[in-house]
Amino acid sequence: MRTFGKANKLEHVLYDVRGPVLEEATRMEERGMRILKLNIGNPAPFGFNAPEEVIQDMRDNIVNSQGYSDSRGIFAARKAIMQYAQIKKIPGVTMKDIYTGNGASELIQLSLHALLNDGDEVLVPSPDYPLWTACVNLAGGKAVHYICDEQSEWYPDIKDIESKITPKTKALVIINPNNPTGALYPQEILEQLVDVARRHELILFSDEIYDRLVMDGLEHIATASLAPDLFCVTFSGLSKSHMACGFRVGWMILSGNKEIAKDYMAGIDMLSNMRLCSNVPGQSIIQTALGGYQSVNEYIIPGGRVYEQREFVYKALNDIPGISAVKPKAAFYIFPKIDTKKFNILDDQQFALDFLREKRVLIIPGKGFNWKEPDHFRVVYLPRIEILEDACQSLKDFLSTYKQR
Ligand code: PLP
Repeated sequence: MRTFGKANKLEHVLYDVRGPVLEEATRMEERGMRILKLNIGNPAPFGFNAPEEVIQDMRDNIVNSQGYSDSRGIFAARKAIMQYAQIKKIPGVTMKDIYTGNGASELIQLSLHALLNDGDEVLVPSPDYPLWTACVNLAGGKAVHYICDEQSEWYPDIKDIESKITPKTKALVIINPNNPTGALYPQEILEQLVDVARRHELILFSDEIYDRLVMDGLEHIATASLAPDLFCVTFSGLSKSHMACGFRVGWMILSGNKEIAKDYMAGIDMLSNMRLCSNVPGQSIIQTALGGYQSVNEYIIPGGRVYEQREFVYKALNDIPGISAVKPKAAFYIFPKIDTKKFNILDDQQFALDFLREKRVLIIPGKGFNWKEPDHFRVVYLPRIEILEDACQSLKDFLSTYKQR
C-alpha cells in the first residue's frame, strides 16, 4: 500500500507548540482545568501589549494594504530595516538584500529550502529553537547539533562545532540571544564562530530575533557585522521586541560576500516570489516600530517587568533543592538543570507530564529543544511575579516528593 506524508521528519520538534505534553494540557483544559502555560514565548496573554503607536499605524494603513506588495516588501519597511542594519554595523546591505516575512519563521524555512540539497548538513545549536532543526530536516538536509556549554554561560562549544564539520556541511546556525537558554554571546565568542565559518567556507545564519531584549547594560553584536567577507543571513522581526507575535512581522537581511551566493540568492528570490509577499498590514508598521523611542527598553531595566521577572525566577528556581540555572542575559526564557539522580529522572517528557498532571503547570522538557539528556526544561518567565511565585512554589512542592520510578 502506498502511504503519504513526511511528518516523520518533524518528529520531536516544535514541542513548545505541539507534542505530547501540550496535547495533555489541551485535554486537561477541555475537562475544565486551568493550566498555567509557561510553554511559549508569546507576550500578549501575559499583559504585554504592542506599542500604541504601532497599533495606530496598522489601523491607519489597513485600507492601503489590500493589494500584494513587492515580494521582498514595501519600500518604507525595507528602508527602515536597511537603516537598522546600518545601526547594527551590518555591511553592504542594499534594498535588494532585505526580505520581509510572515514572522522570521517563514523566512527561516524559505532560506533553508533555497539552500539545501538532500543530505546537506547544517550545524544547529543544542539546545536550539526547534524550528531550525525542523526546517533543515524538512528541506532534505540533516541538522547536526553542536553543544552549547552550560558551564560556560551556555556559549557554543567551538571544539565541538569543529569536530562535526564534514564535506557536506553547508551552514552554521547561531541563535543569539538564545532561546531557550537566554544566553548572549560576547564578541570573542562570535569572532570564534565567524572564524570557523571562514575556515570551512560555511554560510552563517544568525537568528537575532531577541536582539532588543538584552539586559544588564550589555550590548548585542550582530554576527554579520564581524563577517563582511562571509555570506550571512540575519533574521529578526517585531514579534518579541514589540510584543507583536500575532502581527507576524519578520525579516531577513543578506550581507557580506554575495559573489559566492548568486545562485542561492536567485533561489531565495524565486521562493519569495512564489509566496507573493508577506502580509502587507504587518509590513506597514515596521518603519514606525523601528524608529525613535523603543518602549521595550522599559521592560528590560531594573524596575521593568521582564528584568524583575527574570531576577525573581532565577532566584526562585535556584532555591529549589535539585534545580540549578544559569542566569539568562536576554530574551524571556530560562533553561534550568534538574538533578536527575536525586529524582531518578530518566525521561524528561515524563517529568513534564507528571508535573503538569499534578500541579497544572505546563513547561517544556529539554528534549523539545533537541537537548539529548533528560536533565533540563524551559520556563517562559513572561507571567507576572505573583504567578511565577505560584509556579515555582508548585515545582518545589512537586519535587519534594517526586521520584520518577
Ligand atoms: N527565532 C527564535 C529564536 C524564536 O524564539 C522565535 C519564536 O519564538 C522565532 C525565531 C520566530 O519568530 P516569528 O514570530 O518572527 O516567526
